[in-house]
Amino acid sequence: MFNTNTIGRFQQLETPFYYYDMGVLRQTLEACRAASARYGFHVHYAMKANFNPKVLDMIQEFGFGADCVSGNEVKAALEHGFAKEKVVFAGVGKSDKEINAALDADIFCFNVESVQELQIINDLAKAKNKTAKVAIRINPNVDAHTHHFITTGLDENKFGINTWQLHEVADALRACASLEFLGIHFHIGSQITDMEVYKSLCIRINEMQDWFEDHGFKVKVLNTGGGLGVDYHNPDTNTISDFESYFKVFNDFLTVKPGQEVHFELGRALVAQSASLISRVLYVKNGQKKNFLVLDAGMTELIRPMLYQAYHEIENLSRNENQESRIKNQDFLNYDVVGPICESTDCFRKDVELPQSFRGDLIAIRTTGAYGEVMASGYNLRDRVQSVYSVSGE
Ligand SMILES: *Cc1c(COP(=O)(O)O)cnc(C)c1O
Repeated sequence: MFNTNTIGRFQQLETPFYYYDMGVLRQTLEACRAASARYGFHVHYAMKANFNPKVLDMIQEFGFGADCVSGNEVKAALEHGFAKEKVVFAGVGKSDKEINAALDADIFCFNVESVQELQIINDLAKAKNKTAKVAIRINPNVDAHTHHFITTGLDENKFGINTWQLHEVADALRACASLEFLGIHFHIGSQITDMEVYKSLCIRINEMQDWFEDHGFKVKVLNTGGGLGVDYHNPDTNTISDFESYFKVFNDFLTVKPGQEVHFELGRALVAQSASLISRVLYVKNGQKKNFLVLDAGMTELIRPMLYQAYHEIENLSRNENQESRIKNQDFLNYDVVGPICESTDCFRKDVELPQSFRGDLIAIRTTGAYGEVMASGYNLRDRVQSVYSVSGE
């Protein structure tokens, strides 16, 4: 990902910053578009993964829709040119203000997460003399086999409507004249790499659509959510997620009736590999038991390791073995790579094996295009992290 030109350019820049490889983003989007188009599937980009303006613009140019989880995301999607017929709005706590704005914008669909929310959307739509299109987010109780912090489809999770409440949903839908039922929605978790999980989801979706059809509702949209994972351990050799296998599972196991549309909401798999967080070593601390590399980036720039024990590859770009200036037979040491923030959890990874590192070395934290920049904060009154984009030749 980093050639000598790129690293030369980094040396002139103030750190920390997110570096976006727009070529990787483009290739990923091309792969996803080709694999989904084969089956006529509709893909919405889950904007919460990354709403960097240049990233959004490129995704929009590829013709993807937008999956939003806040009113401001809906607004940003429309401002970046996503067609309103391709904007969906999910989230367990939509405020009245957000619902009203989405109604005014005539978005494609609300993914509704509770019976009470159905009634509120109905009331707000009625007040505007509008009909709100809704899909019911069902909690399918399918285990995503991912980290428990990022699983969302179990009975114990706050998301979606549990299956034993579907009778209540059906009653509410019949009573709510300002709602148009479009279909059913699912999202069982994130960083899912086991395709068997998606097979189980397909089986549940088939049962659920039968339930709705049996109760007199026509299901036009099957929205399977997102969650496809990426390879955090091999960003250079396994850069693009296996979109082919992913969409094939749905094609093989989902029962799609004539006229039905199948929708997906991918976030991480579209953007994660396109960015790295670039930082410099501020200090090297050699303790009795531990060596610490203190970086100028911390949990204020990338919180995933601290929030969900997430793994990221860490590289010292200044001492890369491929570089001309490499030090022959350089020593490798184990470091705890930490940030400058006043919290003990402000550690990117413990015991990282790296060439002996020095103050001023450039460090890349890889696969940070998803849930990285978007979660940056101003804690400790830190400067907002900058973004840098690849130029031709990089
Ligand atoms: C976050 C989210 C997604 C995207 O998840 P990824 O794991 O990034 O693919 C899709 N749908 C909903 C409703 C979400 O909340």
